[in-house]
Amino acid sequence: MIRKFSTKNPAKTRILILGGGFAGSNVLREAQKQFKGSDIEITLVSQDNFFLFTPMLPEISSGMLHASDITTPIRTFCKAANFCHAKILSIDVENKSVSVIRIFDQKESVLEYDYLVLALGSKDNFFGNNNIEEFAFTIKTLEDAIAIRNHVISVLECADQERDQILQEQLLRFVVVGGGFAGVEIATEINHFLRDATKKYYKNIDPEKIRVIIVSARDGILPEVGDELGKFALDYVRKSGIEVITNTKAVDAGEDHVLLSDNTIVPCATLIWAGGVTVDPLIAALKCEHGQSGRLVVDSYLRLKDYPSIFALGDCANLVDSKNNIVYPTTAQIAIKQAELVSENLVAEITGNESSLKQFDYHNKGVMATIGKRTGVALLNGKKIRGFPAWFLWRSFYWAHLPTREKKIKVGFDWLLSLIFPADIMTVGFIKKKTLSRLETPIYSAIERSIDQTPSVSSYL
Ligand SMILES: Cc1cc2nc3c(=O)[nH]c(=O)nc-3n(C[C@H](O)[C@H](O)[C@H](O)COP(=O)(O)OP(=O)(O)OC[C@H]3O[C@@H](n4cnc5c(N)ncnc54)[C@H](O)[C@@H]3O)c2cc1C
Repeated sequence: MIRKFSTKNPAKTRILILGGGFAGSNVLREAQKQFKGSDIEITLVSQDNFFLFTPMLPEISSGMLHASDITTPIRTFCKAANFCHAKILSIDVENKSVSVIRIFDQKESVLEYDYLVLALGSKDNFFGNNNIEEFAFTIKTLEDAIAIRNHVISVLECADQERDQILQEQLLRFVVVGGGFAGVEIATEINHFLRDATKKYYKNIDPEKIRVIIVSARDGILPEVGDELGKFALDYVRKSGIEVITNTKAVDAGEDHVLLSDNTIVPCATLIWAGGVTVDPLIAALKCEHGQSGRLVVDSYLRLKDYPSIFALGDCANLVDSKNNIVYPTTAQIAIKQAELVSENLVAEITGNESSLKQFDYHNKGVMATIGKRTGVALLNGKKIRGFPAWFLWRSFYWAHLPTREKKIKVGFDWLLSLIFPADIMTVGFIKKKTLSRLETPIYSAIERSIDQTPSVSSYL
């Protein structure tokens, strides 16, 4: 049934959505349904012309999945909306306008709005450390994942030819900073890939020399899943050959090393930073209340305080869950749920029906992570699940949330093929680092400590 809308503003009402991630693209999809048959104009602006399914991003780095498996053109969602492929330059909340620059030819223009939806996600936070920012890889975008993949394979190619033992060991040391979901998932993916690829293809590399090291500022890893599952995850990743250095931070880096907070220098050719996020500078610059990591403080209707025509959601929004007094975490599930609410509240606002505004009241059902081949941990409604069942749940849940049938088929096939065929070691595209100097620093009390803690049996599935 087509809904009839009578808007507060008799002229055409314009909704502008900034960002095409989980939050923005789901507001777009829901709002199109809500406003079907009305003459509301909906436009989504994003610097990427695709939606990226981030939970499977680490699997791009390991070659388990391909870029096109986890990306969907935003235009496929635009049934009755406009898409603007542009980078947002500034947001003027007083004049209700947004400046953008076209990606292709850098032409600038201004988009006006009546209602604005801020869904610009988050950016990596290097805590002001320029060297780490320069020398580390990150795992946030598709380009990041492809860059890691190309780099890791190039390192193997180089190490296979290297006859200098110290330099070869340096090449084969991969440091991942961050013991949260992104850090653990990328470390376990590349660990598995490196060991498989080396055994199969790189005859001059002893797989025992591969050292994947997670540096965690906390006592363990994956604090979100609680102490018991966190301990299980820590023991498991150590058994799979990953060294975990806890209660330690990375404080500096160069192209051939990482410096840790206990003054250990780790010579390496690969540093991956998953050590924290902050908001986009555009969001940080908005003159309104900011919360944790610069996120925008919103009311329970997901509107900015003092700006009822501006909604914010997803990673860039700061909303306190009143039931347990903590800020909703930056997860895809939360972004999707908030998108449903924002589209309904847009209807309430636009029709002037304030009494039907709904509050965000979501009970987070749980968290899940993969921690190695066919192994995971999951905390669902307080129930602790570990090992294969948790991994299977993770895969089923995220597979079911892929946005189109085409993506589900592609991902399903690629997962199936990975059971039959060995790791793909082809590099395509760019390689970030080309040179590496030999760092002859003696090794590294912290790492040796961590090795001592590593149980001897390897049961990486
Ligand atoms: C490696 C990794 C693994 C993850 N795994 C999980 C998981 O297993 N489960 C889970 O729930 N969550 C996971 N997350 C977190 C999840 O991805 C985020 O919480 C979610 O993407 C937030 O959605 P969002 O729409 O707020 O932001 P995003 O999805 O980041 O979308 C932001 C959008 O804004 C656009 N944008 C940003 N700046 C500009 C600009 N200046 N101009 C134009 N466009 C711009 C971007 O292109 C993008 O389209 C993971 C994240 C990463 C990085």
